[in-house]
Parts: sequence; structure tokens; C-alpha cells
Amino acid sequence: MRNITLFVNTLCMTALVALAATPAPAATPAPATAPPTATAPIAIRAGRLIDVVSGRTLTDQVILIRGAKIEAVGADVRIPPGAQVVDLSDMTVLPGLVDCHTHLADLANAEPLDLLRKTAAQTAYEAIPNARVTLLAGFTTVRDVGVYRAFNDVAMRDAIAKGIIIGPRMYVAGAYITISQGAGAMTGLSPDVQLPWDMQFGVANSPWEVRQKIRELAHRGADHIKVLSTGAVLTHGSNPKSIEFTPEELRAAVEEAANFGLRVAAHAHAAEGIKNAIRAGVASVEHATLIDDEGIALAKQHGTYLDMDIYDEECIQSAADTPADFLKHDQDLGEIQRRNFAKAVRAGVKMTFGTDAGVCPHGINARQFAYMVKYGMTPMQAIQSATVNAADLIGHSELFGTISAGKSADIVAVKGDPLTDIRILEHVDFVMKEGAIYKLDILPPQKGEGIPSAGVRCPERKRIFRAELMSRSCATPHSAHTQLLIPSSATPFGPVLAWQDEQSRVENDSFTSSYQAPCAVAL
Ligand SMILES: [Zn+2]
Repeated sequence: MRNITLFVNTLCMTALVALAATPAPAATPAPATAPPTATAPIAIRAGRLIDVVSGRTLTDQVILIRGAKIEAVGADVRIPPGAQVVDLSDMTVLPGLVDCHTHLADLANAEPLDLLRKTAAQTAYEAIPNARVTLLAGFTTVRDVGVYRAFNDVAMRDAIAKGIIIGPRMYVAGAYITISQGAGAMTGLSPDVQLPWDMQFGVANSPWEVRQKIRELAHRGADHIKVLSTGAVLTHGSNPKSIEFTPEELRAAVEEAANFGLRVAAHAHAAEGIKNAIRAGVASVEHATLIDDEGIALAKQHGTYLDMDIYDEECIQSAADTPADFLKHDQDLGEIQRRNFAKAVRAGVKMTFGTDAGVCPHGINARQFAYMVKYGMTPMQAIQSATVNAADLIGHSELFGTISAGKSADIVAVKGDPLTDIRILEHVDFVMKEGAIYKLDILPPQKGEGIPSAGVRCPERKRIFRAELMSRSCATPHSAHTQLLIPSSATPFGPVLAWQDEQSRVENDSFTSSYQAPCAVAL
């Protein structure tokens, strides 16, 4: 209760009074893990809706959402009485975006050895904003492909799923499977430094050691396996052009993972390491920097996805703390990778959207779209790589990747048409995950106007807000950068609304489940 009071105090003194004067219904706030209560369905009016399966844009669609799922989509879907209507008729609506290569549960520092200055718990807490900004940027799902502190990613995935923290749906690797002193190892230390267990969990040096690690990871909750087939750019003492795991070890990884129903993602820069991974049967090659014509043909033949992080070159080069040896590894690779991306697109290889987020700051993932278009994709292909293709690679096309009946209500919207200007996706205005609205940008109100009345049409904005709002006495004037964050009553966060300016967003959007009815009115 103390935390709630403190938060409310900073937000609105009148609300604090209202809260204090109202007897707490059950004394104990609902736990963050409480299941969502049954609420009215939500109907989204979509002015334009990108159908990523047909590659067409549909107009004037209605998306009906009940609980966490999409119930119906179409131009003639009837809006049931009592439904909350979210009017996005002046926006383009598309499926929640998916990044297939993130590292949310690690620190985003350029120097991996910085992790040695932190306990596992510090790293875990400091990584929480990575998840939040990724979701608010429109990425409702990520495939996280490795973490230096083994199982921090499993813990983050589960904390998000339980509603303890805000973030995208995560699929995680649990650890890196790597050779000793390899691309996924914590290197650069004196040999007499003994690393803690979780910083060397995935080290394996034979097919049987690879199998043993995969058995452990599968048992402890990994969703897929990440292997390092070649050296890396961002690892001390590594050479991205070198081969690490042997074909025999890679085959063992794919076979053992398959025994547990898991797929393998292989990090590979060098051409031979890419081909070794494809021939072994991995689901995706990450980076694929130096892929040659034979590798492209093999990827096509095997149906292997290439997951190429072609936007982060400038981040590596410009980060103030990029170690000098990393810059040396990186020489020319960025441009070569972009050219090879273009070749792979022309060849018709299956591609997914993966950024290696953490190299560039988390939350700017969508900047990669412009690079994908610059290097040969159509805007529709780029969007498909981050939706329908990504769901196929992850193996959950039944759950997300398209806006269709029966799937999770993972939906984003932008002002304007991203098929005309792909960079529009860098500023997502609406984010829904599993039927809960996490972001809904509004046009700035007139100075001193306060919160627009819910359910009242704001004439010049042509938009209706329906939400359960806190007491109107909270309606303080807000800045031109105000954003509306509405975890609605259908969410684990309870019927709350917070408004905040850009500066206070980080503090306020972790609004928790406990703040409930006393200061809320249904509108
Ligand atoms: Zn990575």
C-alpha cells in the first residue's frame, strides 16, 4: 500500500485524499498475477488495416476483441452494445511487431565485461526498462537470443507473463551455447579469474557437451536454442571470420533441440560457418554477414530464415564506449552485410526482422525497417518480416503475426501510411498486447485544457476515448508531450489511467495492479 500512496502522491494530491478517505474494499490489493476480470469487448475502428498475408491494405475495418483474443475482423463486423470503442479510423493498423533478435535481459553496455561489476539481481532490475521501451515501440513479441547471465531471460519472460513488469511476449534461449572462449563466452579476462556458474553455463566443446547443455536448457524453460557457429564482432579475442562449432556439433545441437521440440538459431558471420549451420538444419542464421552465393542458395533450398541486423552498424561505430578491438572486428562488415542482405532479398530467401537490440539502444528497433527498404525490400516485405514471417520462425503462427480471428490481440497503429513512408513505424501511436492497451497517443490538448472527457468526441481530433478514468480531480493541465497510457480493466493492471509527459514516462508507466476502484470512474 505504501508504494501506491507514494505514487499517487506524486501524481495527484486530490487523488490521494480520495483514496485515503475510501475504505479499502479488501485491505489487500489484488496481486499483480490476478487474472484479468471479465470486461466489455473492445472494438477497434481501423481506417486502414494492413493484411500481411495477402499483402493488401483493407479499409474501414472493425476488429472485435474479447479478453486477450481477436474475435472477429471485417468491414461488416457488428459492434456489440457496451463494447469499448477505440477509434483509429484516421490511422493505419497492423499486427503487433516482432523482433527476432533481441537481448532484453542483458545490460545494453558496449563492453560485456561491465556485467562483472553487477550482481545478477542488479542486471535483472536494470534490464526492466529494456522490456518496457520495446513494447511501447510497438514490438509485442520478441525472440530473445541469448544472455550472459544464464536464465535472466527466462525470469524476465515469466515476470512479463505474470504482469509483474511490462514488456513484450518473450521467447528466450536461456544462455548461449558456445565453445570455450568463443563468441558467446565472457572473454578478455585473466585465466585465473573464475567466472560464476551462470556466466559460463553454455560452454560446450563436443557434440555430447552440446547435447548436455541443451537438455539442461530445455528442462529449465528455454524456448529455443542459440548456438554460436562463428566468431563474433562484439567479443574480446574473437574473429568473426573464424569457424567455432564444427558441423558435427551443430548437427548434435539441432537434433537434440528437436528432441525437446525446440528450434535452433545460429549466430554466424563467416561464410563457411553460415553454410555449416544451414546444412545442420538450424531454423535461422543470425547476422549472416559474409554469406556467399552458395550460402544463399542453401538457405533457399533448406527454407532457412536469415535474420540480418542491418541497422546497427552506426551504433557500433558511434557508441562512445565501444572497445577498440570490437571496432577492428567490425571493419567493413556493416556494408558487406547490407550488400549481402540485398542479394538474399533478390534471391527470395526467407527473411525475418531481427535487430540485435542492445547493440543499438532498446526501443529504436523500428529504425531497421528503413534499412531493409533501402537495401531491397518493399515496405510490405519489411512489415511481413516482422509479423507473419517472424511468427513462422518462432513457431507460433497460431498465436500472433496477423490480425485474424482467434489470435492474440496484438495490434499497433500509426498515423499515416507506412507503405508509403516506412519510417512512420518508428513512431507507433497505439500498442495493444493480448487485448490490453499499453499506449494510445493523443494529440496535445490546448494549454490548460486538461484531460479530454472520456466518451466525448474531441471535435478537432475526431477521436473518442472510452476508458475507465481516475477521478476527474486528477485532471491537471499537462504538457504538449502528454501521452495517454491506458491499461484498461481487461489487463492485469486494473482499471487505471496514467498520463504523463515524456520526461516522467519511465517512472509512471510501471503503474501497478494495486490502484483500483476508489479513484476510478467508469465512463
Ligand atoms: Zn545478438
